[in-house]
Amino acid sequence: MLEIRNLHARIEDREILKGVNLIIPPGEVHAVMGRNGSGKSTLSYVLAGKEDYEITEGEVLLDGENLLDMDPAERAAAGLFLAFQYPIEIPGVATMTFLKAAMNAQRKARGEAEMSTPDFMRAVKTAGTDLQIDTAMLKRPLNVGFSGGEKKRAEVLQMALLEPKMCILDETDSGLDIDALQVVSKGVNALRTAGRSMLVITHYQRLLNHIVPDVVHVFSDGKIVESGDKDLALKLEAKGYADFDGAAA
Ligand code: ADP
Ligand code: MG
Ligand code: MG
Repeated sequence: MLEIRNLHARIEDREILKGVNLIIPPGEVHAVMGRNGSGKSTLSYVLAGKEDYEITEGEVLLDGENLLDMDPAERAAAGLFLAFQYPIEIPGVATMTFLKAAMNAQRKARGEAEMSTPDFMRAVKTAGTDLQIDTAMLKRPLNVGFSGGEKKRAEVLQMALLEPKMCILDETDSGLDIDALQVVSKGVNALRTAGRSMLVITHYQRLLNHIVPDVVHVFSDGKIVESGDKDLALKLEAKGYADFDGAAA
């Protein structure tokens, strides 16, 4: 599904990604854990196609297609979705309106017909139930004044509606209390299917008690330095990241 080979990226004159190698097969959930500032968000931005980053080496394939040749909209149309660590506020646009526009843009890019408003309302209701999203929240401008939990629930709702094949969740647990973490995790787990892959980026092990990954990767100084099963996350939690600093890829 996703293949990252020797990916190097810089911002201004600073190299942040220093040779990332990662393969996520269809249907698998992989976690990337690493200390603050190690370059995890940079990896997610580079995959989503955010400007500002210069790719200096390497390649990324999504289902065999060269992702780095596509603009952000083409990447989304190809089935990539990024849930941001810091969701963007869009004043003046009701969440519902935003979601419908995003969904129809996606359908158009895939050559599908626009979804009617009643069909859209039904889809939102179905997807929103697990996420405990009510109509009042959807009438408010996207993310404006949303609590940490509301922002993350809105991100996962968007993910559910767009039906991506590759989901990247960047610190979806940050800013969540235990109850919100459970709601968000339940929403994410409901989206796990045999054909959909996920890259779950986190700083803390606790998220992985709720979204249990198939593989855990340790990220340090711009690359993956160790990979293992879910117990690797427990080992990291117990010992900290220091043991992995300077480790060879
Ligand atoms: P993480 O998500 O693992 O905490 P980031 O990818 O956010 O790490 O950041 C990695 C490094 O890149 C940090 O040292 C950060 O200061 C630097 N960085 C991120 N964005 C920029 C930017 N726009 N300009 C310069 N340095 C940046
Ligand atoms: Mg950070
Ligand atoms: Mg980050």
